[in-house]
Amino acid sequence: MTQLAAAPTPSVRVRAPGKVNLSLRVGAPQDDGYHPLVTIFQAVALVEEVTARQVPEGAGVQLTVEGPQSERVPLDETNLAHRAAVLLAERVGVAADVALHLAKGVPVAGGMAGGSADAAATLVACDALWATGLSRDDLLGLAAELGSDVPFALLGHTAVGTGRGHLLTPAMTRGEFHWVFATRDDGLSTPEVYGRFDEQADGAHDPELSEDTALMQALRAGDPHALGAALHNDLQDAALSLRPDLERTLDVAREAGALGVLVSGSGPSVAALARSRQHALAIAATWTAEGAADAVWCTSGPAPGARLLA
Ligand code: ATP
Repeated sequence: MTQLAAAPTPSVRVRAPGKVNLSLRVGAPQDDGYHPLVTIFQAVALVEEVTARQVPEGAGVQLTVEGPQSERVPLDETNLAHRAAVLLAERVGVAADVALHLAKGVPVAGGMAGGSADAAATLVACDALWATGLSRDDLLGLAAELGSDVPFALLGHTAVGTGRGHLLTPAMTRGEFHWVFATRDDGLSTPEVYGRFDEQADGAHDPELSEDTALMQALRAGDPHALGAALHNDLQDAALSLRPDLERTLDVAREAGALGVLVSGSGPSVAALARSRQHALAIAATWTAEGAADAVWCTSGPAPGARLLA
């Protein structure tokens, strides 16, 4: 019996999550300039939705975007979604003709990897649209070429990342954790934060997962109090020295009873762990009332990785 390839669909929609680094441990830069990381990612239910539509041959990659802060998203070939479509097309030998619409639900330039989620979603969407039939491993390989946070946006849930953060091992967790994020309109540059980290971390040691034993235990037990106490970010001091006003955002959340609070990734977003959804809303309200955030976002984790929507 001959098996026919599935007919390409004219339009597909894929959802991919933003993330919080529950722990981010950073070593001294290596010869290639990259910092070795040991990080524990958790995907959260703030999501990006990418719709990929077929366009006439030769039309190229067409990009449109909607959602909060979308005016800050580049629409040219530097956009990570654009790069993802071109990379996949080159690798499988098809023409990179596609209309991509990004509906952004992850704060832009907040250290929550919204652009990486767009890239992961685009890989899954174009793979389906062009019926290229790549395996999960193939997609993970392409994702790692696009950026160190992109593989995690494919995988989702909770995972340990090593290397540049792109070598992933799923982590066991129980239950749901409630998060609130405080974002700022003016972002922090990731390279600048790493630069300040290098100045401050005179002879940083190589990071080890054994430093996060309590955190991994808290995840397995589904214990938000223990998780709050174990949150860790090596980049926090560097981010705070560039943006001292974030200190007050951390303090306000602590005073509102957050179980743990930290700068998210390279900032400037701040993540607070709450006892419940109700408590998350209360922390968000306090941040707003105190003027300690430009926007607040309540969500929960873990959330699934990039997946096709029906
Ligand atoms: P990173 O920490 O990787 O720099 P981030 O998680 O802080 O990123 P993103 O929203 O992913 O924040 O985007 C960071 C920058 O990347 C933006 O300021 C923007 O100029 C550029 N960018 C490229 N592609 C995208 C995209 N699809 N969505 C948002 N920003 C994008």
